[in-house]
Amino acid sequence: MKRILVTGGSGFLGSHLCDRLLKDGHEVLCVDNFFTGRRDNVKHLLDNKNFEILRHDITFPLYVEVDEIYNLACPASPVHYQFDPVQTTKTSVMGAINMLGLAKRLKIRIFQASTSEVYGDPEVHPQPESYRGAVNPIGIRACYDEGKRCAETLFFDYNRQHGVDIKVVRIFNTYGPRMHPNDGRVVSNFIVQALKNEDITIYGTGSQTRSFCYCEDLIEGFIRMMGSRKGLTGPINLGNPGEFTILQLAQKVIDMIGSRSRLVFRPLPQDDPMQRKPDITLAKAELGWEPKIQLEEGLKHTINYFDDLLRRQGDIK
Ligand code: NAD
Ligand code: UDP
Ligand code: UDP
Repeated sequence: MKRILVTGGSGFLGSHLCDRLLKDGHEVLCVDNFFTGRRDNVKHLLDNKNFEILRHDITFPLYVEVDEIYNLACPASPVHYQFDPVQTTKTSVMGAINMLGLAKRLKIRIFQASTSEVYGDPEVHPQPESYRGAVNPIGIRACYDEGKRCAETLFFDYNRQHGVDIKVVRIFNTYGPRMHPNDGRVVSNFIVQALKNEDITIYGTGSQTRSFCYCEDLIEGFIRMMGSRKGLTGPINLGNPGEFTILQLAQKVIDMIGSRSRLVFRPLPQDDPMQRKPDITLAKAELGWEPKIQLEEGLKHTINYFDDLLRRQGDIK
């Protein structure tokens, strides 16, 4: 049994990770400032004697005693990370410094939730880890993209300079239950809009592509990476290589729900990547990992979650 720190533990992915670690028999310390996370996501864990929650902003130092760190704290939806972009960069950069400082003092393993956004609007397709990316350093997405890139730099420098045992994964678009209904990301937006029979907002022409991974598959990848041999630092891509246009996703969601929603077209936000698909050769070879849950099945679980939530909130009948 280990005592494991999960930063961002009450967010979408963090809460699923807390569930999994507790199920595997560990103690979990969930640290979150509740910027985009919710107590509701971990409500079912509050009575668990192996679970502890601490309100804390990781841009400030944190002195605790743990055996492992998963660093997930950072808003992930463009709407939320662009709301206070300076805080977003601080969370990635100062948060990484503090968590790496903690890992260095305790001589423990630390995991970083990096992102496919380090590839920016990619000219190489699909994206292997060796691709260095095309990021606009002064655009509206830069607070997130460059913040995460700098966090990777810090992880590799703490590894080289101080011997910190690091594990870095680059996560591609992941979806599932417990995304915030106002999260602003495409899967939750489309499902909520379709359930309410409201207009489905397509940004641009909808011809841009994304590859969508179901949360359960991703968390399995996290666990395998964290448990991998010493020296396997990553970065390793984790994502589902199935690639869909945004229009295809909208149509699928409408069909599955039987919704009366219509498509409406809105301007494409600045620097919105045109295509994205992970090359997961490395994850397959090093971790024996690949996603098992394809889009339709994952959407079914996610639709059920939002249907239930919106009914309970009285938003739909
Ligand atoms: P999320 O917004 O649901 O979760 C982020 C959590 O971090 C929230 O609980 C939030 O309150 C917390 N947080 C934010 N700033 C903090 C701070 N300064 N101190 C403490 N807590 C803070 O997003 P998510 O989808 O669960 O993403 C989790 C991690 O995975 C993020 O680091 C994100 O960048 C990364 N990621 C996610 C995806 C995805 O598709 N879901 C893709 C790439 C990377
Ligand atoms: N830190 C922390 N918890 C710890 C140890 C360090 O939050 O248990 C923070 C502290 O704020 C420090 C940062 O991590 O500034 C980086 O630590 P490091 O040891 O690399 O640098 P230094 O202490 O020299 O600034
Ligand atoms: N998108 C959209 N309508 C929405 C939300 C998003 O068309 O209501 C598009 C967005 O422009 C992007 C893609 O869907 O091209 C994925 O957006 P998301 O915010 O989920 O994640 P990103 O991969 O851009 O960080």
